Amino acid sequence: MKTIVNYINGEWKASSSGKFEAVRNPATGETLGEVTQSTKEEVDLAVQAAVAAQKLWRLVPAPERADVLYKVAHLLKERKEELARILTSEMGKVIAEARGEVQEAIDMAYYMAGEGRRLFGDTVPSELRDKFAMSIRVPVGVAGLITPWNFPIAIASWKSLPALVAGNAVVWKPATETPMIAAEFVKAYEDAGLPKGLVNLVHGSGSVVGSAIVDHPGIDLISFTGSNEVGKRINERAGALLKRTSLEMGGKNAVIVMDDADLELAVDGILWSAYGTSGQRCTACSRVIAHASVKEELERRLLERIARLKLGNGLDESVQVGPVINRASLERIDGYVRLGLEEGAKLLCGGRIAAESGPEEGHFYAPTLFTDVQPEMRIASEEIFGPVVSIISVHSLEDAVAINNAVAFGLSSSIFTRDINRAYRAMRDLDTGIVYVNAGTTGAEIHLPFGGTKGTGNGHRDSGVASLDVYTEWKSIYVDYSGKLQRAQIDNY
Ligand code: NAP
Ligand code: MG
Repeated sequence: MKTIVNYINGEWKASSSGKFEAVRNPATGETLGEVTQSTKEEVDLAVQAAVAAQKLWRLVPAPERADVLYKVAHLLKERKEELARILTSEMGKVIAEARGEVQEAIDMAYYMAGEGRRLFGDTVPSELRDKFAMSIRVPVGVAGLITPWNFPIAIASWKSLPALVAGNAVVWKPATETPMIAAEFVKAYEDAGLPKGLVNLVHGSGSVVGSAIVDHPGIDLISFTGSNEVGKRINERAGALLKRTSLEMGGKNAVIVMDDADLELAVDGILWSAYGTSGQRCTACSRVIAHASVKEELERRLLERIARLKLGNGLDESVQVGPVINRASLERIDGYVRLGLEEGAKLLCGGRIAAESGPEEGHFYAPTLFTDVQPEMRIASEEIFGPVVSIISVHSLEDAVAINNAVAFGLSSSIFTRDINRAYRAMRDLDTGIVYVNAGTTGAEIHLPFGGTKGTGNGHRDSGVASLDVYTEWKSIYVDYSGKLQRAQIDNY
């Protein structure tokens, strides 16, 4: 049994609370370890360490900061298999996906290390003679990071790496369900020689540690990924404190299948994005908007393939669908399925807790497919966060786009068509932060902005160069070398 503790000011130490939470393998129910449950006081210690460390870090040249990030990338690469196995045993996603997630963190580390030699600002002409004007990025200060369990290392990498390369310090609260992979990520920072105090890991509940991070006056910005419910609460609180807040929240992502689609490819895309990670991706496909003329054939092919999906422990290489995170999640998903039946949707397959489950065992839900779903039903408009897909039938691209856009979320969407005009119209009109053409709703690459419109976010983006906007302030600088007082807007015209 492992004991997972905090990392504050370069020291690994359990909380003085003496309280621990069990860490369980969602595929087997096995207890993997216990994680310390911290107090407000430990958040305060972490913030003090971060404030002190950031004062020095901001003066370190960015290319030198980046050297540490290159080492982090290298260490993660060396440890990839070990990290992937920890991720799978703690969170449940199948090992191939866990390797992919660790790779995402590796890629992000190399990419953000490269930013150490860019972090571009602008040099622009001044309207006055003998005067120089430029804008540069400066760090915000201390970033409070609050992350979910479904991409426990990728999302933490999207946030901590740009924060650090830009000269900030970090106080990080990972999800209660995934403390082990969090500790491994921080270990990579430590082993890479990151000065103490720059990354602080504080384990504990959202209501105690998460809230304390949001409230703490020493934290300058909050970067949160998780549910809308929690995100809204954070936004209100942080808004009142005038803190910068970056929120990435839920999705209700759709795959549109047009009558001219390559159906086999569409089936591949739907299966992968709907049932991969057991539907527990913020970008998971949970609606299929199918042209009426191909709907039945699509259903037939999907059913055939779903029947062949193998459920089980993600460490088994032949398994394609792992467990869902915990019992509460299993019950929530099943509750949505019951609701779908009450709403009059037609269940084609699944719709039940799978046989592998028992109170002390794994938490598996059978891949579920509904059809004849009306767009306004709750199963077609609320995030389920499990392996449940609703098929909605349409007669035109315009209707498909309108249905896609009618939900409160705007993270990801996809269209399968071989008609370039339709593809470009969809790219223009789908109101989501991410659009895929002839691919499912998942598969973001780290050097592009990640995030969504409407209820999914609040206008910021994770990953890509856009993430630097979260972790930097713009500073505009004017240098007058004329030797006399020049008054902008007055002396030049
Ligand atoms: P969650 O319940 O909102 O939790 C996210 C994080 O917030 C956890 O670390 C949680 O701590 C913490 N938290 C809970 N209550 C808090 C509070 N009052 N104050 C501050 N922090 C608090 O979400 P989840 O169930 O872990 O993750 C699933 C959700 O994340 C889904 O809605 C999914 O769509 C979304 N997601 C979005 C993206 C995206 O980029 N758009 C990516 C991945 C996931 P505890 O773990 O201790 O509760
Ligand atoms: Mg939660």
